[in-house]
Amino acid sequence: STPSERYEYQAEVSRLMDLIVNSLYSNKEVFLRELISNASDALDKLRFLGVTEPELLKDAVDFDIRIQADKDNGVITITDTGIGMTRQELVDCLGTIAQSGTAKFLKALKDSKDAAGDNNLIGQFGVGFYSAFLVSDKVTVSTKSPKSDKQYVWEGEANASSYTIREETDPEKLIPRGTRLTLHLKRDDKGFAHPERIEKLVKNYSQFVSFPIYTWQEKGYTKEVEVDEDPAEAKKDEEDGKTEKKKKTKTVVERYWDWELINETQPIWLRNPKEVTKEDYNEFYKKTFNEYLEPLASSHFTTEGEVEFRSILYVPAFAPTGKDDIINPKTKNIRLYVKRVFISDDFDGELFPRYLSFVKGVVDSNDLPLNVSREILQESRVVRIMRKRLVRKAFDMILGISMSDNREDYEKFWENFGKHLKLGCIEDRENHKRIAPLLRFFSSQSEEEPISLDEYVENMKPDQKDIYYIAADSVNSAKNTPFLERLAEKDLEVLFLVDPIDEVAIQNLKSYKEKNFVDISKEDLDLGDKNEEREKEMKQEFGQTCDWIKKHLGDKVASVQISNRLSSSPCVLVSGKFGWSANMERLMKAQSM
Ligand code: ADP
Ligand code: MG
Repeated sequence: STPSERYEYQAEVSRLMDLIVNSLYSNKEVFLRELISNASDALDKLRFLGVTEPELLKDAVDFDIRIQADKDNGVITITDTGIGMTRQELVDCLGTIAQSGTAKFLKALKDSKDAAGDNNLIGQFGVGFYSAFLVSDKVTVSTKSPKSDKQYVWEGEANASSYTIREETDPEKLIPRGTRLTLHLKRDDKGFAHPERIEKLVKNYSQFVSFPIYTWQEKGYTKEVEVDEDPAEAKKDEEDGKTEKKKKTKTVVERYWDWELINETQPIWLRNPKEVTKEDYNEFYKKTFNEYLEPLASSHFTTEGEVEFRSILYVPAFAPTGKDDIINPKTKNIRLYVKRVFISDDFDGELFPRYLSFVKGVVDSNDLPLNVSREILQESRVVRIMRKRLVRKAFDMILGISMSDNREDYEKFWENFGKHLKLGCIEDRENHKRIAPLLRFFSSQSEEEPISLDEYVENMKPDQKDIYYIAADSVNSAKNTPFLERLAEKDLEVLFLVDPIDEVAIQNLKSYKEKNFVDISKEDLDLGDKNEEREKEMKQEFGQTCDWIKKHLGDKVASVQISNRLSSSPCVLVSGKFGWSANMERLMKAQSM
């Protein structure tokens, strides 16, 4: 046999392994979910690549996953017939961390302080392949890529800083293609190596895997067997002169072991929505996206006509932590299938604009070629139409949350994704009509609970033409601004734009239901109550005072004017009609610092 070579883990992997091996994580059973999901990914990859490179499929074996539990030895083997790994891939995939899920986990880990937090994170993010070490002392990965003519064995132990790779030479262990994982369970975890336990876990965690999963089970059938007559009885018969032998039968249970299929492989999105329960949708969501919270809403639909596809979309309950998520559309949130074959989850705005990239879901189309590439996706007319429909459905779903009786749901949504929608005001003019009704702002008459623009419009005075707003850095400073005085006196409601992005978003919208947004801090605010006579009188009386003040302030102000916009404060600083608002200036200053 060829010698095995030893490799050091990348530092991050060592850290991760250390954490996993020594964790007090109570939900260790997630290892099976992770390993089955890898097997399923490997089958997906092969099926996908096989479309353009049929030679990869030359070994005619079925696409499936088989799990065998050996309770006497405390060993579990998980075998898939997927893409497998070459020697180099073993080093790249199982010795370093390049993968999104695990990388995210490490990032979250950095931000968390306590060990209890760490343990929760394992469940939240899933730690991929290394979760095998939650329950194993030793893990063996024997794998055969159709791109290589050799099979390799990766072997790693808990508490070791290195692993080995060698060629598989034992003819008994050769597989035509794919990967076989052998887990040598820790003493305390040997209980996992029971067929019934495995079956239960698979049913619980992997019911939506679209490849058949078999477990090795003991089965039994009953049969009738002929038995000889009881000797005592036979002797008696002989004495009685009965020569004919009596035939007797007995029912026995014949035991044997065989593979048993334990999941349903029909993808949930192909099922009739009438037959799928909300629980099914939520479970599918949690399993597929590794989420631990239920989504806020889901939508299952089929579109027909010009372009045909089926989809299930979800609005998550939480925005992922990490600041850059809003601008990074590469969320792996949309899984694209073509005729049930998984194609990609690596999108960059092709199916959803980046401000909606928080929407999760699956999309299955019959109208795209199976070998669809990124370039095709970007230029495809089919994709453009799909995108339009998906966006519309996403808005319907969000609108649904906003109209639900459960106000808390929308509050939660707004807290997490309000910023995204405001970004949409800036980036997606075409959908202004869909975004605007979903916006929420505090106002001079609702300081605690944000209101919708519809609520604002409903509350407008009969002769009020515009929607008033003031931008400030908090509700408190907004409500204390002198600009508010006269509007408050007239009982006119003013929106408080307290999020830095609010003002730009509103300026992009320009109007709502034909009512213009008007900044009450701007110079020429017209409340429709001009009294020219009185203005003239005031100008005469205070004209000189204004000149005097302007002379003393010089270039610090553009002009000093008599105004009717204050009721109790003597003066106020306002922005010019075409200048930046005070709030914008504050923002610009903050950014240039
Ligand atoms: P992730 O699944 O998020 O990529 P994992 O830690 O679960 O991260 O797996 C790391 C990598 O190892 C995978 O991306 C894949 O390339 C490889 N891998 C793991 N299991 C298998 C398998 N059963 N067949 C082929 N490749 C696998
Ligand atoms: Mg994985």
